[in-house]
Amino acid sequence: MTLLVSILVVVAATALAAARLRARAQPLARRIDAVLPQTQCRQCGHDGCGPYAEAIAAGEAINRCPPGGTAVVRKLAAITGRPAVPLDVTRGAYKPRQLAFIDEARCIGCTLCIRACPVDAIVGSAKLMHTVIASDCTGCELCVPACPVDCIVLEPLRRRAADLVPGHARARAASARRRFEQRSARLDRERREHAERMAAKSSRTPEAARTAADEARKHRIVEAALQRARARLAALP
Ligand code: SF4
Ligand code: SF4
Ligand code: SF4
Repeated sequence: MTLLVSILVVVAATALAAARLRARAQPLARRIDAVLPQTQCRQCGHDGCGPYAEAIAAGEAINRCPPGGTAVVRKLAAITGRPAVPLDVTRGAYKPRQLAFIDEARCIGCTLCIRACPVDAIVGSAKLMHTVIASDCTGCELCVPACPVDCIVLEPLRRRAADLVPGHARARAASARRRFEQRSARLDRERREHAERMAAKSSRTPEAARTAADEARKHRIVEAALQRARARLAALP
């Protein structure tokens, strides 16, 4: 019996040491990103958790993630070897996880919330009502200021827990990271294709050039609306 216990202890210790070695072998930014909450809310001042992880690896402060709170600051301190400083509340206060909810009766189908959502958690088509996929929503709040008729509200997770697909928080974070990365890649591709189409059109007839200019103008208007929405969110206490 004693021998069996000793063997089990040695096996467990070996597995733990191997896991630690594997973790240390990962690039620093990847290890940092692994402990960030993947809310993708941009309160840290970066376009998402991945870019903030890169910035921390390059020396940026470790206390700028309100959704992570002090627990994440402590984990980042352990990974980077820096002191566990208090959360920088100028970036926002820590609050329990929330989910977005759209009042579908008031939705005008403008699609601006879809463009604002960093993890593709909203579905709907132009001029039709939109809805939030509760199990994909990270509660980032970016859709709220984007809505021109203020029909999106955030509710505490506990009130809508029944809407959630059951799963561990880490699995949900991994899923949010994957959706954020897929969306970023898709947006990059769309921007490239749009620029190519515009270049091709403007090299044709004067009328085609005008259409291209119109499309570019509409694109700028939508981008400006999204920028204003981000600025309004950043200005919230
Ligand atoms: S959860 Fe928000 S504040 Fe925290 S790292 Fe991700 S994007 Fe930045
Ligand atoms: S639905 Fe709104 S709150 Fe939820 S992830 Fe998308 S933008 Fe963020
Ligand atoms: S931004 Fe508001 S009005 Fe527009 S589609 Fe989304 S929920 Fe509906």
